[in-house]
Amino acid sequence: MEHNITRLPIESLMQLTNRSKVVVNKKMSFVERLYLPAILGGLMITFRHFFKKKATISYPEVQRDFSPVYRGQHVLKRDEQGRENCTACGLCAVACPAEAISMTASERKKGEEHLYREEKYASVYEINMLRCIFCGLCEEACPKEAIFLTDRIVSSDYQRNGFIYGKDQLVESTDPDKRVDIAGRLKAHRHQ
Ligand code: SF4
Ligand code: SF4
Repeated sequence: MEHNITRLPIESLMQLTNRSKVVVNKKMSFVERLYLPAILGGLMITFRHFFKKKATISYPEVQRDFSPVYRGQHVLKRDEQGRENCTACGLCAVACPAEAISMTASERKKGEEHLYREEKYASVYEINMLRCIFCGLCEEACPKEAIFLTDRIVSSDYQRNGFIYGKDQLVESTDPDKRVDIAGRLKAHRHQ
């Protein structure tokens, strides 16, 4: 079946860039037919790139500095006395657009004052890292300065279950030397 296709004249088409070249069907000169100048020109471009600063790095031996606003794996902070800051209020879970956070609230018992800062705490706190989009809204929503995003990278895994991070991976260590430094983020929050 024959289709009638109407083509616009080439001059009427909108010009997107000024890089287009009109193809001229002229005969090649003797030098052009040798191809050597073109090959040498190409080699010169390659040669010039040897001395340019490389855009790539040899990861993982070399690692780039993270941007100050990078948002990676979360940390649940402790206070100066080593008690968990989180009171299981649930505001982070409500703010999370990916519904990645879940928790179980529990009452602090007598004798647990050294573990949890307030009467209520999260006995279970989980973040599904496959859902998380690292937007930082949980950090923004937290009234207790308990959850922060850090520059730590979420590790890869072969199993989906390995991406459900519980308190064992989220709450920072009680060892003062192993605390997660969130000073930069804290400063940004307090100056908002
Ligand atoms: S960073 Fe965003 S997506 Fe990830 S847990 Fe927090 S609020 Fe949810
Ligand atoms: S991390 Fe913050 S917002 Fe989330 S439950 Fe704990 S105290 Fe509330």
